[in-house]
Amino acid sequence: MKKILTVLLALLTMAVLATTVAAEEPATLKVSFGEAVYNEDGTVSMDLIVDENPGFAILSVFLDYDTNVITEWKAVNANSKLTQTAGYGLIYSMDGNFTETGKIATITFTLVENAPHGNLVVTLLDGVNFEGTPNRDCVNYDEETINVEVEDGTIAIAHDLVHVEAVEATCEKEGNVEYWYCKDEACGLVWEDEALTIVSNHKNVKRGVKEHTVVAMDAVAPGCHNTGNVAYWFCSVCNAVWTDEECTQVSNHLSVVLPELGGDVIHVEAKAATKEEEGVKEHWYCEECEKVWEDEARTQLSNHKNVIIPKLPEFALADVNGDGEVNGLDYMLVKRHVLGTHEMTEEQSARADLDGNGVIEGLDYMFVKRAVLGTWPVVEDEPDAGEGENTENTEGENTDASDAE
Ligand SMILES: [Zn+2]
Ligand SMILES: [Zn+2]
Ligand SMILES: [Zn+2]
Repeated sequence: MKKILTVLLALLTMAVLATTVAAEEPATLKVSFGEAVYNEDGTVSMDLIVDENPGFAILSVFLDYDTNVITEWKAVNANSKLTQTAGYGLIYSMDGNFTETGKIATITFTLVENAPHGNLVVTLLDGVNFEGTPNRDCVNYDEETINVEVEDGTIAIAHDLVHVEAVEATCEKEGNVEYWYCKDEACGLVWEDEALTIVSNHKNVKRGVKEHTVVAMDAVAPGCHNTGNVAYWFCSVCNAVWTDEECTQVSNHLSVVLPELGGDVIHVEAKAATKEEEGVKEHWYCEECEKVWEDEARTQLSNHKNVIIPKLPEFALADVNGDGEVNGLDYMLVKRHVLGTHEMTEEQSARADLDGNGVIEGLDYMFVKRAVLGTWPVVEDEPDAGEGENTENTEGENTDASDAE
């Protein structure tokens, strides 16, 4: 597609002395380009170099390149022996052999402004015959043919590189491998290595989203006081929620919740127990589900049995023998128990333990005596009430009690 313009470069060499060397096999001259050097004015220069020089009188080489990129070139002769020709001009000298090696010219290339990035190859051609002259691209002074080995030159036109770090793909977003790309849109090249040898493209460097880590959740029926949910599936990594196993119906954690049924909670005030009736602790309960709580915030779960306070004991304190009366017989039991002549039963001990310390001793003995006398418990308003009555029945015992004290 590209039109390649061939331009002739002729080297005119002038040697002081002509040396004639007869050779059966043609000698070989190597011609190549040196490194491309960018100049401040934007042009690029490469040296033209000869090697293994057997001595030549005429050398003509051609430059073949992309004329869309290189608009012109100019050769500067290192030793004033080079003539650049346009078209098919060929100029040479027959005065002697040039035998030096190394740089014979510097060629400076002018590139188009937006030269495509990458390696721009400048090809060296030799061995082209001109106007019917057989193979006179390189001969020595004696018109002996010299083979020319050519090597292309390369002008690297730098990319405007961007380095992109690798990003691991997740179930939420795609990732990418580490890559480099050229910012220049007209260039648009992408590579997967820093040396720019593995050519890729913007699509290939991407890594697709990973599969979700799906957890299935069974449906839960809502209760009076707890929410339920429909069956759903969610991703334990990104928390996405779906209402179908195929994960096509997108939902969210709120939408799958079934609200609590909200049974009526009844507040029950505390009531003290009496001898006749059980009491009850303050509590709250639900008529629907029979749940019972001991706090309004419904954090202390209880049950209907636990909130009941049992009836107060039937017996009266100081009625040690449990006959329904407090009299000298009760006093006698305690007295004997304290003296160690008779041991009371557990129940009797409970009735006699007026100071409530769990042991029957002198203080209980005295309190029971007072109870019999009607002076226990102490009632300030009527300090002597009933004393006379009780004395009747228990007179004899009173004397004993006084003795004991
Ligand atoms: Zn580029
Ligand atoms: Zn996910
Ligand atoms: Zn309930």
